Amino acid sequence: MFDKFNEECGIVGIYGNPEASNLAYLGLHALQHRGQESAGIASADGRSIYLEKGMGLVVDIFSEGTIKKLPGKIAIGHNRYSTTGESHLKNAQPCTVEYSRGPLALAHNGNLVNISFLRSELEAYGSIFSSTMDSEVIVHLIAQSKEFKLKDQLSEALHRVQGAYSLLIMSEKEMIAVRDPRGIRPLSLGKLKDSYVVVSESCAMDLIEAEYIRDLKPGEMMVFDQSGVNSYFPFPAQKEAACIFEFIYFSRPDSSIFGDRNVHEVRKEFGRILAQESPVEADLVIPVPDSGISAAMGYSEASKTPFEMGLIRNHYIGRTFIEPQASIRHFGVKLKLNAMKNVLEGKRVVVVDDSIVRGTTSRKIIKMIRASGAKEVHMRVSAPPTMNPCFYGIDTPTRKELIAATHTVDEICSYITADSLAYISIEGLKKPFQEGGRDHFCDACFSGDYPIKFPKMDMRQLSLFGE
Ligand code: AMP
Repeated sequence: MFDKFNEECGIVGIYGNPEASNLAYLGLHALQHRGQESAGIASADGRSIYLEKGMGLVVDIFSEGTIKKLPGKIAIGHNRYSTTGESHLKNAQPCTVEYSRGPLALAHNGNLVNISFLRSELEAYGSIFSSTMDSEVIVHLIAQSKEFKLKDQLSEALHRVQGAYSLLIMSEKEMIAVRDPRGIRPLSLGKLKDSYVVVSESCAMDLIEAEYIRDLKPGEMMVFDQSGVNSYFPFPAQKEAACIFEFIYFSRPDSSIFGDRNVHEVRKEFGRILAQESPVEADLVIPVPDSGISAAMGYSEASKTPFEMGLIRNHYIGRTFIEPQASIRHFGVKLKLNAMKNVLEGKRVVVVDDSIVRGTTSRKIIKMIRASGAKEVHMRVSAPPTMNPCFYGIDTPTRKELIAATHTVDEICSYITADSLAYISIEGLKKPFQEGGRDHFCDACFSGDYPIKFPKMDMRQLSLFGE
């Protein structure tokens, strides 16, 4: 069994602020939705690197005391998601090492696709790994480089890896931020007085009152050091392939990502398009909270059907999707959501959610809605059928667990016991972005069109395909 790592992470970097670790902590708090398994912060004061990390939520890991142990004006932080793979502190980030040129810390969001291959090669030449993380491979490649400057060592290392990465690297006195040449994962730059802020999503800047400047461009490497901020493009240009699932589900609605598009607005637009593509006579539109709220608002607006809260969410439990055992997942939906009898009784209801992965959640929800007296339940999904696993940093199950990979829409409709089921089309999904005339998204989870081919040798990717 091969593990999947670095999935669905959030990263934050602060350069040139006396409260760097405190601000990194707040940034991680705002990015908690991107990873709840572990979190860590590494800081630098010009002489050394300091590290604090732990398992669990940001608020539980850090206290005033731990933040005090992180001095210096530079800090990078990382939130990691829980996956079905190993869940160990050794896999929590940032990962730190001492190499010939001094200390180094690294925080990575994304997934590399040629990692098994590179790792075996490095091990054959004597490298010893202390974790099972993709990111450690980058660190070993940096350590092997004959280049003198960290930015050149990093660029040499990254020329060898393939995949998705939004990355923060810190030495004892400089910070480097870099996005992969296809720009798969988001990364934005902001300013807070005289200091710089680099974060996965803009919602982290709002919390610390930093001013958004711009997104890092695909393939851009930004170096923050005593001479200021310098930008480089060390890789050959590639076709952009921003992850469209960030808009569908993963990013926070109050964030603006991939060129300053607000996520809530885009989701609302998905809902309007879905209503035009798949209308249905109904009395109410209800979202699956929280992931379906924005799209349900759009669906309600375009279909002129009243929006209602037919399901109420308990916010004090983690996401059910991450629980590894089916039995817990079934129970989890009930723990998380409750149906409102007074809203639903005798009504024809459209239920809007952002995606169906295994189908377990929708089936449970529809059962609850019917038990509350709804007359008809129509399911509308603001993503196309999820048919393929993601290799670039979204936690998806293997292909055979993806209900849409093995079942038709009609079959899924009867499995989830809906009166009708419709998904947004892939063309519909692209409509909100057509103004600029560019098609710059990775939609491999729906289309199977993977922008980065992985080496056939790489067993970890094959295991996701169920081969
Ligand atoms: P499922 O029961 O597997 O069909 O799960 C569908 C639910 O999981 C939907 O409500 C989605 O909002 C949510 N979801 C979809 N993708 C992910 C993901 N990568 N991580 C966590 N939750 C997800």
